[in-house]
Amino acid sequence: MSSPRKHEEVWSYLTDTDGPRSAHEVHEALEHTGIGIATIYRALNAGAESGVLRVVELPGGSTRYEPASRAHHHHFLCDGCDTAFDVEGCADGVRDLLPPDFQLNGHEILLYGLCADCGGAA
Ligand SMILES: [Zn+2]
Ligand SMILES: [Zn+2]
Repeated sequence: MSSPRKHEEVWSYLTDTDGPRSAHEVHEALEHTGIGIATIYRALNAGAESGVLRVVELPGGSTRYEPASRAHHHHFLCDGCDTAFDVEGCADGVRDLLPPDFQLNGHEILLYGLCADCGGAA
């Protein structure tokens, strides 16, 4: 059965990891704890509803989640293993791309390619 303690375990895994994770990725990572996939879905939904977690939608992937408290950052999506990584900081000059008289409310930047494990640097 679901319990607040298990929800916290899921949320704290997301805090400790280096990028947004899907329900299945969390399930794989927490397999040793015996937390079932249904509980993980509930924990992720509850976290998103209460504002503890932020929903991260990346192209072609399942919905991922990250702590809402994480500062402004972007993501790198690996074409090899489909893992998403946090990228620190931001790009300069994003505001310069704005057409005249448009108002900017936010932006997203997605980097993609191959992570180090998938031979990106080789
Ligand atoms: Zn990879
Ligand atoms: Zn940015």
